[in-house]
Amino acid sequence: MDSLSVFCNSCGRVMENPLEYRCTCGGVFKIEIKEAFKRSEDKVVTLERYRPNFPYIRSIVSLGEQSTPLVKLNGNVMLKLDYMNPTGSFKDRGSATLVSAVKSYGKDITELREDSSGNAGASLAAYSARAGYRCHVFVPHTASGAKLEQIKAYGAKLTVVKGSRAQVGEKAQDVSAGGIYVGHSWHPYFRDGMRTLAYEISEQTKLDELDYVFCPVSAGTLFLGIVSGFRHLLESGVVKRMPKIIACQTSKVSPFYHALKGTHYRAPSQVSSVADALVSTKPPLLELMVNEAKSVGADAEAVEERYIVAAWKELALHGFFVEPSSAVAYAAYKQYSKRKDASESSTVIVLTGSGLKRPTI
Ligand SMILES: [Zn+2]
Repeated sequence: MDSLSVFCNSCGRVMENPLEYRCTCGGVFKIEIKEAFKRSEDKVVTLERYRPNFPYIRSIVSLGEQSTPLVKLNGNVMLKLDYMNPTGSFKDRGSATLVSAVKSYGKDITELREDSSGNAGASLAAYSARAGYRCHVFVPHTASGAKLEQIKAYGAKLTVVKGSRAQVGEKAQDVSAGGIYVGHSWHPYFRDGMRTLAYEISEQTKLDELDYVFCPVSAGTLFLGIVSGFRHLLESGVVKRMPKIIACQTSKVSPFYHALKGTHYRAPSQVSSVADALVSTKPPLLELMVNEAKSVGADAEAVEERYIVAAWKELALHGFFVEPSSAVAYAAYKQYSKRKDASESSTVIVLTGSGLKRPTI
């Protein structure tokens, strides 16, 4: 697999197979793409469209993900409606590549295990069902009711864990009773699927010099995937420069914001933000995120609760019904553009999760 390599960000060891989610040294895996961007000439949609850029996938597990609309909000501001993926969130991009990679590996695997605040669990449950795997999702007790019902509807086993987000992860990673752990916060083939978002934005805007991309950030998979995708397009000569990627967090859960700015962050003992999908107070990918952000000139923005609620209401009054965690990106855009004159700039705001996941706040 020379066109793409996966190796440990700490010790450099090459990942052996998709059953490894982190290095034996404890480090996270990083993906390096070595061949130029390739697009399918056919008018195919879903993961099939960009499959030539994912050499580890031989057998695609698809539910009709990707190819989500890009809609103009006003002026040069565009909304990427990624909540229109099959399970109602952007996570389907990652589940498609991850489950396809596991399926392509072809070994005798029966159960996939995941820890999630809800959306990733629902997505993995759906793709597991599609692929014929059992799925076991571990969720924090703060996860909302609708997401839990969605996970169960796909036939997944659901275990609610009382405790910190880290403790939820530890439970899921205990595979002594069987199965494999494919947690989205760790697994490189999950976040690698997010590259497709950059490819789509580039194709849909037809801009080789897009100015800004705003995205919500929790575990960091979306942010890292967008960086990786645009870097691939830049190195392949498809775009002329990197857009400025703005990682958007809540003030309560803002470890990346503070790490990037070099300021101290004290996580709350219990997260109570209205943006209940953004709960990673200690993301395993934090160091990688900061390094990648610095290497491409990305920035971060943190927003207070009242601005998230206002942004959520405003989006709905424009007809875009998203979950509050998605509204964080719009709130951050409004705050950022007040400070810096970005009114003439071409901007894409990624709306990640459907409002039907949490219709009231
Ligand atoms: Zn290592």
